[in-house]
Formats: sequence, structure tokens, C-alpha cells
Amino acid sequence: MARIRRWGVIVAALVGGIAAMQPHAQMPAPAPMRDLTWGKLNFLQTTDTHGWLGGHLTEPSYSADWGDYVSLAHHMRKQADERGVDLLLVDAGDRIEGNGLYDGSNPKGLYLYDIYRQQDIDIICTGNHELYKSWAIQDEHRYTVPNYQNNYIASNLDYINITTGKQEPMAPRYRKFKTKNQGLEILAFGFLFNFSENNKTLSVVQRVEETVKEPWFQDAIREDPDVFVVNGHVGVEMSEFNNTIYKAIRDVNPTTPIVFLGGHVHLRNATMYDERAIAVASGRYFETIGWVSLDGPLKKDEVPSPQPRDAGKITFSRRYIDTNLLGFYHHTGLNGEAFETERGRNTSNMIAHARNNMRLEELYGCAPQSYWMTRFPYGHKNNLYTLLANKILPYVAYDEQRVDIPRLVLINTGAMRFDIFKGRFTRDSMFNVSPFPNKFRYIPNMPYKTAKFIFDVLLSWESYFTDQRPYLMMLGIPTCELNIRRETFIAPKDVLKLASRSVGQARLSGYGEPEIVEGHTTVDGLGNDGDDTLHWSYDYHTQPAVVKTEMGVTEGEEPETIDFVFIDFMKGPLSQVFKRLNTTYTEADMLPYGTELLDVMVHKWVKENWSQEC
Ligand SMILES: [Zn+2]
Repeated sequence: MARIRRWGVIVAALVGGIAAMQPHAQMPAPAPMRDLTWGKLNFLQTTDTHGWLGGHLTEPSYSADWGDYVSLAHHMRKQADERGVDLLLVDAGDRIEGNGLYDGSNPKGLYLYDIYRQQDIDIICTGNHELYKSWAIQDEHRYTVPNYQNNYIASNLDYINITTGKQEPMAPRYRKFKTKNQGLEILAFGFLFNFSENNKTLSVVQRVEETVKEPWFQDAIREDPDVFVVNGHVGVEMSEFNNTIYKAIRDVNPTTPIVFLGGHVHLRNATMYDERAIAVASGRYFETIGWVSLDGPLKKDEVPSPQPRDAGKITFSRRYIDTNLLGFYHHTGLNGEAFETERGRNTSNMIAHARNNMRLEELYGCAPQSYWMTRFPYGHKNNLYTLLANKILPYVAYDEQRVDIPRLVLINTGAMRFDIFKGRFTRDSMFNVSPFPNKFRYIPNMPYKTAKFIFDVLLSWESYFTDQRPYLMMLGIPTCELNIRRETFIAPKDVLKLASRSVGQARLSGYGEPEIVEGHTTVDGLGNDGDDTLHWSYDYHTQPAVVKTEMGVTEGEEPETIDFVFIDFMKGPLSQVFKRLNTTYTEADMLPYGTELLDVMVHKWVKENWSQEC
């Protein structure tokens, strides 16, 4: 009863209007929820936020913003104080690139660092995205490192000062501190996986196998804390974590609890390395926030000698919290104005202000329906790449001088990075869908048969080349999401049905029961009960690496030659393929086609083809 009454209050608060979330964000719907399990030591974890601090304005389940998270953390810290337990906030990097809030300003990130720092974070480290561009490394060193001072940890990352040429640790190598309420001794590291494509003029990433041999590391793991925390931009199933660092710590500390908090692969996942070592990663794009808790005797002296320390059993729990206000209300027991803190509200306002200055809400057009990257097969009318190939490509690949010449236009699916949702398609949506500056190129007068063959090779290169072709893997939707068997992370529908029945009956006693909506569902190494919100799973379909359209080609009358058109990004992969197939084409044959950037052309297409009233 109490629960249902609370939903009533929450819905009333929403209807009454709330200042939190971004102005155009959609209201979430009430959903069946799982509670958080509190332990003596608890964590809230973010990773791979990639600039999504404004939240997902078109996805109600993920519509809270960074300001709402600031409020959530405030209340959770208070709850921890009242319970006499401890709560730590952790972030594992890749905070930039991939959203208009970062990419939409000149210089990039003009607003992001100040917004981000509004959240107090206890342990923070660097991702690979902070290290590609020289300005991104400098900004990280200039802003985020001092913003978080000793909480910023760089166990295997150095910064090179360009004026002095001096190489120095990006931040402290590790952090030892006592928790606020129980005085638990924590020893925390901050790692980056063995990343090698960083900008070498300004940064040095040490391989993790080398770092664990360093005298400072060997000394640190002998400091005998109550708990080790390894924060890292590392997948929880990557060997840097589950082999190298885990073994190094465990060899010296056979029973000390270890919490690994990872990221990078953009998937929610959790696993136990042993009975006293858990590893959790909380997803991507600020869609979900991780919750990890440990309970049992955590203090070294809590189990009286002569009993061995491992006599005290430690229990672990994890949850993936959907970033929406209703969920935040549920976990704090507060809503509306009682939930919103001044700092949270200010942060939401900073985001709104930044979005305004960057004109991210500028309406390009109204999408008549949603177009999904992977929820429908290619060819289906609801598939993004079907729309791209059938409608957008014929329009955007345009060159005034060559308009009468038949053309075959190719684009790699990795060039389009996010779903299009029915309704407002804005400058912001454009950054999400197509974040890369690309122009078109072409090879004139290519024999039509050759062009078709090249397309075929790109489509099914595995059957043409038996060895791994990294330059071809780059064409599809990012491999970091796909080379892990994604289906293993998506709960099958019948599992969800069972789960929803048990939660629904136990918690909501049959009436007023909120409906289940589609959303991210997680099957991780610990089971299928990790999500805080019950969802139906999205369908998932593998997409081709490239799609094409042909213009000026009538069936049955194949032209001798055509213009072979593609985007800039494909230059490298195509030259490799040409070389492998012993053709004479090289990069020198790839000429500019049209003058406009792809996203400028897509903008024009949207303006001409979609209505302006949503
Ligand atoms: Zn990432």
C-alpha cells in the first residue's frame, strides 16, 4: 500500500511541474522497481558518460541530468550517514566526445568541465577518449585533475609538459584514505587499459603488466588496508583487471576485499573474481548509474583473532540505476522539491544555459517515427540504415558537376552513432547521430561490376580475407560494443516475464501496478536481477558494415561505368582493400565529391523532408 501511495505522490509531483531535468526532456513513466541493498561500504559509479550530462531528452527512462545526479548523491550520502555506513562516488573516465554538450562548442568542452565538477567524486581516473587529441589531454590536465586533486588517480598514466618537456604522473598513483563514518581504510588505484593510440607528445600510458612491477605499486599493496578499490577504464572481463591487477593484489593480500570498478566496453556487467573480489561496470552515456555494496566484517580487526580473517563472510550486491527522476525518487524516498538540492538545481541550470548558448535545441525538423540502429533488421522501415540508404544518401551525396552520371554511394554504418526518436530532431540530435565531420569523395568512371564487387567485399570481408582486418572492423558500429557477444547481455523475454511476475506480486500487490516499458535489460555474471527498473528488452539485430544506394541505374540496363562515391572516413579502409585485391586504385584517385559536410547535407534533408511542427 505504502508503495502505491508513494507512486501517487510522485506522479502528482511530476504533473505539478518540476524544475529538474532539462526543459525538453520527456517525463519518465512509473515502473516496477528493485530496491538497492545497502552494505557497510557502498558505491555509486559512472563511466563512459561521453558528454551526456544533459541526460537523454528523448528517452524518458534515461532523462535525468547531471544536476539530478548531484541531488541523488547528496541524499544517498545523507542516508549513509544516518545508517552509519559509507558511500563513495567513482567515475572511470571517457567523460568527453559523443554528445553536443561537449562537441557543440568551440573550443570543444567549453562548458562541460565546469558542469561535471559540480559532482563530488571520491575516486576518478582517465579513459582513452581523454587522450586522443592534444587539446583534450591539456584540458584534462588543466581542469579535471585540479578539480578533483587527490581524488584523481593515475596509476599508469603520465603527462608530458610541452614547455618543459618534463614527464610526470598525470595525478597521484594511488590514494589511501579513511571513510567518513566507519573509518574504513581504503586504498584506491586508477588504471587505464593497455591503450596505445594516445597522443604521444603529451601522454605516456604504461602497460599494466609493467605498472604492477613498480616499487611504488608493490609497496602500496603491502599497506594492508581494509578494502582495495581498483577504479579503471578497463572492461571487467579484460585481462588487465581479472588477471594482472587482481593477481598482483591477491598474491600479497589473500583475504582483503577488492572492489573493481570498470568501464570502456559500454556494457553493464558484473562478475566475481573470487569470493572476496567483485568487478562491476555501469554502462555508458549516463543511461545507468552503478550501485555496489559490500557487507560483513570489513575492518581488519573485526573478526577476533585467532580466527582467520576470512571467517567473516562478505556479501556483495550490485544494481544498475536508470537515470530518471522517478527512480531517483524511489531510492531516496523523496520527490519534487524535497529531492532537488540547490546545487543540483544550479547544475541543471548550468546545463540548460550551456545548451542554450550552443543552440542545441534548435529544431531541424520533426521525425515522423523512430529509426533504430539495432532494434530492427536492415531493410525494415524502422531501421536507421534503411532510412539512410533509401532516403538520405541519394540526397546528400550530391555534386552539381556530376549530377547526370550514374553513381553508387556507400556509407559505413559506424558513421551513424545513435537512434533517431520520433519527434524533435535538433542540432543536439545531429551531434548524437552523426558526430564526425565527413565530406564525400569519389572515384570517377569505375566499371560498374568493379564497384559492385568492392561493395560485396566490404559487406562480407570475412569470407574474402581470412586474417583479421582491423581497418575493416572500423567500418561497422563500434566494435567495442559488438565484438563482445552482445546477446549474452540481453535478458531473453521469458526470463523478464518471470522476473516481472515475482517483483510485481511481491511489491505491488496486484493493483495500480505500473506497466513495464522497454529499456536496457542486463544479464551479467551475477544473474539477471541487476537492473533497478524492470524493462522489456529491446530486440537486437546485427547490422551490415556498409550500406549503399544506386542513382541513375535502371534495372536490366547496367551502366558500363559509374561514379563510386563514399565518405572521407572510408578512404583508408578502401585503399587497403584496393591493395589487397590488386586493383590499381589508390588514394590519389579519390577526388572530392560535392562541397558540403555530411551533417550539413543531412540538416538540409531534414529541413526539406520533415515537418517543422512536432
Ligand atoms: Zn567510452
